[in-house]
Amino acid sequence: MEQKISPMMTKYLETKDKYKDAILFYRLGDFYEMFFDDAVLCSKVLDLTLTGKDCGLKDKAPMCGIPFHAAESYITKLVENGYKVAICEQLSAPTRGSLVERDVVRIVTPGTLQENLEDKKNNYLCSIYYSNKNFGVVYVDITTGELKLLELTSKQELEDMLIRIAPSEIICNSEMKYFESEIESFNRNVLPKMFVMEDYVFGFTRSEKYAKEQFGVNNLSVFDASDKKYGICALGGLLEYLKETQKRTLSNINKIRVERNNIFMNLDSTARKNLELTESMSTKKKRGSILWLLDNTKTAMGGRLIRKYVEQPVIIPSIINDRLNAVEELINNRQILLEFNNNLSKIVDIERIVGKLSYGTIMPKDCISLASSLEVLPYIQNSLSYLSSSYFRECSKKLVDMSYVKDLLFSAIKRDPPNILTNGGYINEKYNRDLDDYRNAEKLGRQWVSSIEQKEREETGIKTLKVGYNKVFGYYIEVTKANLEHVPYSYIRKQTTVNSERFITEELKKLEEKILGSEEKALKLEAKLYSELKDYLKQYIQVLQNIASAISVIDTICSLANVAIEHNFVKPEINENIKSIEIKGGRHPIVETLLKNSSFVPNDTILDNSDNRTMIITGPNMAGKSTYMRQVAVITLLAHIGSFVPCESAKIALTDRIFTRIGASDDLAFGESTFMVEMNEVANILNNATENSLLILDEIGRGTSTYDGLSIAWAVMEYLSQNLKAKTLFATHYHELAELEGKLDGVKNYKVSVKETATDIVFLHKIMRGSANKSFGIEVASLAGLPKSLTDRAREILKREESKEKTIIPSLNEEKVTDVKTGAEAEVINILKEINIDSLSPLKAFNTIIDLVSKLK
Ligand code: ATP
Repeated sequence: MEQKISPMMTKYLETKDKYKDAILFYRLGDFYEMFFDDAVLCSKVLDLTLTGKDCGLKDKAPMCGIPFHAAESYITKLVENGYKVAICEQLSAPTRGSLVERDVVRIVTPGTLQENLEDKKNNYLCSIYYSNKNFGVVYVDITTGELKLLELTSKQELEDMLIRIAPSEIICNSEMKYFESEIESFNRNVLPKMFVMEDYVFGFTRSEKYAKEQFGVNNLSVFDASDKKYGICALGGLLEYLKETQKRTLSNINKIRVERNNIFMNLDSTARKNLELTESMSTKKKRGSILWLLDNTKTAMGGRLIRKYVEQPVIIPSIINDRLNAVEELINNRQILLEFNNNLSKIVDIERIVGKLSYGTIMPKDCISLASSLEVLPYIQNSLSYLSSSYFRECSKKLVDMSYVKDLLFSAIKRDPPNILTNGGYINEKYNRDLDDYRNAEKLGRQWVSSIEQKEREETGIKTLKVGYNKVFGYYIEVTKANLEHVPYSYIRKQTTVNSERFITEELKKLEEKILGSEEKALKLEAKLYSELKDYLKQYIQVLQNIASAISVIDTICSLANVAIEHNFVKPEINENIKSIEIKGGRHPIVETLLKNSSFVPNDTILDNSDNRTMIITGPNMAGKSTYMRQVAVITLLAHIGSFVPCESAKIALTDRIFTRIGASDDLAFGESTFMVEMNEVANILNNATENSLLILDEIGRGTSTYDGLSIAWAVMEYLSQNLKAKTLFATHYHELAELEGKLDGVKNYKVSVKETATDIVFLHKIMRGSANKSFGIEVASLAGLPKSLTDRAREILKREESKEKTIIPSLNEEKVTDVKTGAEAEVINILKEINIDSLSPLKAFNTIIDLVSKLK
């Protein structure tokens, strides 16, 4: 018998054919079903039972499914695992004999995910267009409507920028894709692999036309973007991708913001990790990070902005000082800060509600949250009226009066509306007269039903007569079998049950029409009113976005002020004229916060572009070298974020980059040893640092033999001093490097002091001039609890090794490494040095020579 695929499955396969690179969620009644390969994959990733469906062929089609109301979490899981999900809905009601119409209404991808997102984090989709050595880049968060456009000219800039925004999805033209393997962060899976779109969607004319349509303008010069040809091509690709995946226009994406080049401090992924910008190195959690320290925001919008501040420190002094001045004004007006803190905590995520509004998925409860937030605005506006810094003035302009919209929302929607729309009941009483009438008819109808019951009982004398309702037969009069003889002729028999008969009457039928009709009418009217309300709200999308932006700024500045007060921070001086980093009484804010019981020892820092360019820091393990160096980097970073800083006073030079080389980390997954990783990091620093950079080098050359390592460290210091002139903090256990002071320009020795007692050492954590002459490694080891017999033995070995004199250090003037001298040679040299030629008799000279020669034999 010829096998023929079923009509439903034929339709399915047609749809699947259009969305080959996505998993197709096919709506069948109350379920989304997946078939064939999609089903096999989903059953694994989502842990679902794999079944089969008759599809007309001999073998059943593999199938698995999920209830439609639980889809969100399954979709999120698939997308987080890197898959795309095409959602195919039923577009017509099921009717007998014909197939339900179905089509894909949305494709969910990592960069376009709208559900289950972290509140305080943006989710970016990025588009890159590469041509003629130029990169056009656009990135968007579709849930907030933020869209930025920029143009870059080097791979390095592109990588830095991508690391900064950390997009969850990247699309590109074919020429760009060739670059993927040349960019380290793609190879190391720090960035998601790029998805290539067809090249024509990046065509300039087409892109410009689409962009004008999307943003409703005749010329992109409105956004200062008309000359950004490469950026516009990238935008074309992005808009096409959004059209293909979202299948609707997103009206919250209504502005292009051109991002200026060179406004952010460059931090590569190593520095971001080492400086613990958003997560702690050891736990990979927010706790212990700079973001954790600074994020005291009360709203999701503020949370996203403070994260941006932390991830994108700026190098434009006017922006930094505007932020610092605003923070200072709040610190000086504590009452207002308290009011803000109190009012901001009542505000919900207006930005993402606007996203849902423009997407069409806003729910009645979102409307109530929005209205409750709008209710707080006049209080915030009032607090703002006492403040004069430019940031607050800007915010005040954006907070326009929305009391009319708030009143409308409160009058339209019930305060505690249901979570689903299908059963109605979310529009308020007294909002619409017709709706009230329908609802009353429903209510009255119920009263009529009970009065009919009463009347029929009296007329028939059947005391147990009941009026009931079921979905199939509607309203009926129920009479038990024992009373059937009293039933009047006018009753029409409808249904027989075990113990009774069910009837209808003309009167009951009419009533039923009235009641059931009004219920349906009420539902329809509610839906209509809600859709009108949504359309009405859409005109306020931009106004609401401005409000959201003002709230995010106020919240972020309040957060910085709260943290500054709590941790005793001061305002740093930072401008173009300051060329040095001068910190008095600096502290590491996170170590200080996490240190329980003991108090943090503050330290000073001076780094400039001349005599104090390089600090070589020696001192035992655990003395506090790393903490000190990180503290300088963190204070510098905080100042560029626009935050107050943990010290008594600070002057901070504008710093284009902070580089870090800290600790040892193997990257065995990529076949690189600790030493290779270390050398890669050093190479990166030497190739990219400028005289305006800050370098934190915690040990260089430790991953190889002592002589190799010391020689490398020495040569790196020479290179830094002679070629780069960057401000450098260099911690080392090679005490020999102390010789560089006086030989290399700008090098100064520092040590972390310790107090040595007869049996122990005490860490003082104080940075002082000079260099440590001892490592105290064995003392630290014994503090750590190594067995005494072992540390005693280590001391013996140390003594023996130290007695063998070794000098391998090249001085700056002698390029060659001097030969290692034996003890005898050294002794001979010493004797020669001691000789006073003027008082030396010929005989004494002769005897001395014999003596010296015999020593060397
Ligand atoms: P190693 O050479 O082993 O890496 P280190 O010299 O870099 O050691 P850190 O890791 O900086 O030492 O500091 C060790 C511990 O000392 C820190 O965890 C902290 O608890 C404490 N510490 C460091 N600096 C200070 C300070 N200024 N005040 C108080 N405690 C400090």
